[in-house]
Amino acid sequence: MNIPQGQFNEDPDMFDYTTFSHGLYIDGHWRPSSDGRLIEVIDPSTEAVIAAVPDATIADAAAAVEAAAKAAAGWRATAPRKRSEILRRCFELMVERSDTLAALISLENGKALRDARGEVAYAAEFFRWNAEEAVRISGEFGLAPSGANRIVVDYHPIGICVLITPWNFPAAMATRKIAPALAAGCTVILKPASETPLTAYALAALYEEAGVPPGVVNVLTTSNPGPVTSAMLADPRVRKLSFTGSTGVGRVLLAEAAKHVISCSMELGGNAPFIVFDDADLDAALDGAMVAKMRNAGEACTAANRIYAQAGIHDAFAEGLRQRMAALKLGSGTDPDTECGPMITRKAVEKIDRLVKDAVGRGARILCGGAVADDKGYFYPPTVLRDVPANAEMAQEEIFGPVAPISRFENEDEVIARANDTEYGLAAYIYTRDLARGMHVASKIETGMVALNRGLMSDPAAPFGGVKQSGLGREGGQKHGIAEFMEAKYIAVTM
Ligand code: NAP
Repeated sequence: MNIPQGQFNEDPDMFDYTTFSHGLYIDGHWRPSSDGRLIEVIDPSTEAVIAAVPDATIADAAAAVEAAAKAAAGWRATAPRKRSEILRRCFELMVERSDTLAALISLENGKALRDARGEVAYAAEFFRWNAEEAVRISGEFGLAPSGANRIVVDYHPIGICVLITPWNFPAAMATRKIAPALAAGCTVILKPASETPLTAYALAALYEEAGVPPGVVNVLTTSNPGPVTSAMLADPRVRKLSFTGSTGVGRVLLAEAAKHVISCSMELGGNAPFIVFDDADLDAALDGAMVAKMRNAGEACTAANRIYAQAGIHDAFAEGLRQRMAALKLGSGTDPDTECGPMITRKAVEKIDRLVKDAVGRGARILCGGAVADDKGYFYPPTVLRDVPANAEMAQEEIFGPVAPISRFENEDEVIARANDTEYGLAAYIYTRDLARGMHVASKIETGMVALNRGLMSDPAAPFGGVKQSGLGREGGQKHGIAEFMEAKYIAVTM
């Protein structure tokens, strides 16, 4: 297998994704899989095969764990200041190469370039934030209540970490795990999604350039994620599993990790309510809804999945959203004019189509979109539905696409009950000019995150994560993100 060893080239006319390294990245080397098999990477805008990456075997995964184990002692002993400087360099290089990285993300994921640029900026921030946090990991010191001894708490890197990420944010979901893990002093094996491996490999080359030593970050792609992950988790040196993806796969992985009592962080699916009260600023609510719904063409775990508009503002809000959604330009991710790119796969389009047909069959009305064109590429048009009933499947299932389902509500208690009527609990959005009401409703909504008069809440400086079936643990934030990759050691001291 010919493994390209290309470098970043900032001249956009020279952009050539085939020059990016994309072998398995193990112990600082690029290599084919042990049985030579490959996974094809498809451009969702054209359905063309754009690259092929190695399909790692269990033996390759064992080699990655070995590499992470070999590098662990050295990285753990590296001074926090030095680790911090390497992470800072990762941030700087990502910012320098943001155009190239964004183009690569758009190509393999299909998202509009403007979304890809936003993702690169967000992804890079995890390195800046964790570079700053790496030198601020402190322990605790206190006197036992009995007065008999001192309580000393020291924080240690948890050990080798297996990181598994989805395709919808190929850069950010990886850096949100790698940056805090490295800041904490851990070594890692990243398994990115099979649909979007090129970004993960391009970033691996960047980490190396920034000074991340061989074996500290290893990256492997596989079409056999269950057995490959199980083999890694069965190695007693692996002490952490950090997963972002669907709730279904999260449940399987939790059961697998339980066999070895491995610490788990789970960032899982969402079903975010977006609540607009009568007193909301209509334009601000519409702007926020467009971001909450259409960032990443709806392919986001935090995407507004159910929009509830109070009776007095409902019609104006529905019409405003229809106008904005209908005006969006659907097109190839890499076309700079595109505002809504394709979905990741044909299967994703079929699922959205099924959910829309189900809602319409139960009484919802289509205000715009709602029909799949027979073109090349996995496109679904921006769609607004109104009068979506509570028993529609999309009220319980992630749409993960550019479909905005609106329902009318009358009062606060009713909308809180409807918002909480889901097994998920990741994100929620509230629009009201009454801050006291906003804070009250936010406190009653069963989610890990609430955006109040905002369409976006993701921030490396804030704890991101869900409750209920949306996950366990937090990523980012002061202490939270790094704490997931550390163990506390308590020492009782008689002085
Ligand atoms: P997915 O099907 O669960 O896949 C996620 C990752 O898990 C991929 O790398 C996948 O590999 C891997 N995987 C699949 N089956 C596995 C198994 N048995 N053992 C080990 N790994 C396995 O999710 P997705 O479709 O890529 O992503 C969309 C989902 O992610 C949505 O539910 C979304 O809400 C959620 N998400 C959550 C957050 C959050 O922060 N809460 C953020 C983004 C996305 P392959 O690609 O090789 O199948």
